[in-house]
Amino acid sequence: AATARPRVLTGPGRTSDGHPVQLLANVANPEQALLAAEVGAEGVGLFRSEFCFLGREQAPSRAEQVDAYRQVFAAFPGRKVVIRTLDSGADKPLPFLSMGYEENPALGLRGLRTSARWPELLDEQLAAIAEASAAEDATVWVMAPMVATVDEAEDFVAACHRHGLAEPGVMVEVPSAALLSGQILAHAHFASIGTNDLTQYAMAADRLLGSLAHLSDPWQPAVLQLIASTCAGGAQQGRPVGVCGEAASHTALATVLVGLGVSSLSMAPRALPDVAAALGAVTLEECRTVARIALAASSAHDARAAVRARLPQLD
Ligand code: PEP
Ligand code: MG
Repeated sequence: AATARPRVLTGPGRTSDGHPVQLLANVANPEQALLAAEVGAEGVGLFRSEFCFLGREQAPSRAEQVDAYRQVFAAFPGRKVVIRTLDSGADKPLPFLSMGYEENPALGLRGLRTSARWPELLDEQLAAIAEASAAEDATVWVMAPMVATVDEAEDFVAACHRHGLAEPGVMVEVPSAALLSGQILAHAHFASIGTNDLTQYAMAADRLLGSLAHLSDPWQPAVLQLIASTCAGGAQQGRPVGVCGEAASHTALATVLVGLGVSSLSMAPRALPDVAAALGAVTLEECRTVARIALAASSAHDARAAVRARLPQLD
């Protein structure tokens, strides 16, 4: 049998007519960052910082944080690394943040909301990120998870600026943020759409419930409209919008996202070569056409089927 060879990227992401689409990696720790660099990712689009400290009873010290972040930044010298501030939640518990009992944890104190309760924790993390980024060569961007209001975005950007962090952004994973992205991006420098949570909250379907998979589907036209709305806000403010949820790794859906106006796609490193090949096989105009087709569909099934019929070479 042929030996399996690691499949790697051969250059920056672009459509067949040369429209650039940054192909970035989602990583949770230094080992994964090294692997992503080996695959040839252009940078890191989502560093899930909370995964360095899952299960911990005590908050990590500043020195521990600096050490973990430096290792990830060091894997991408001269490249972009987007680090997300701690995103605790029911699916990613951080015991050192005890929120007490909540009836609906997915709708509770999670993501950036924890920083209103424990402001010193965000402050300490931003200080650690600033210190780590000053010591390494990577271009470090910071973003906050689960932003729901313009005020939250404004406060987060101000906190980042106090630490000298230049390009603060927000994740768009709550429908309110997708609808108000123009106002949010008047403050934040970029948006990264977390399609896993955006789908969960748009469809009111728990992302962990397999029985609701037909609803937890980023091909749902309502989810695509929220993505389109986010991109419209980005275009209005001249700010980049990326996608870092699962959706970015599906080849046919990736072409739709590019057609909707997304300028970077971040995913598990192993998915990068297939997405690069898919984008390299279509023009930007074809991406825009399939985006229109998907937006006009009345169901996730129809959207997927219509796009696949148009681009039969993709999955
Ligand atoms: C998302 O919600 O799509 C996302 C990228 O963040 P996470 O999966 O870590 O919640
Ligand atoms: Mg999320």
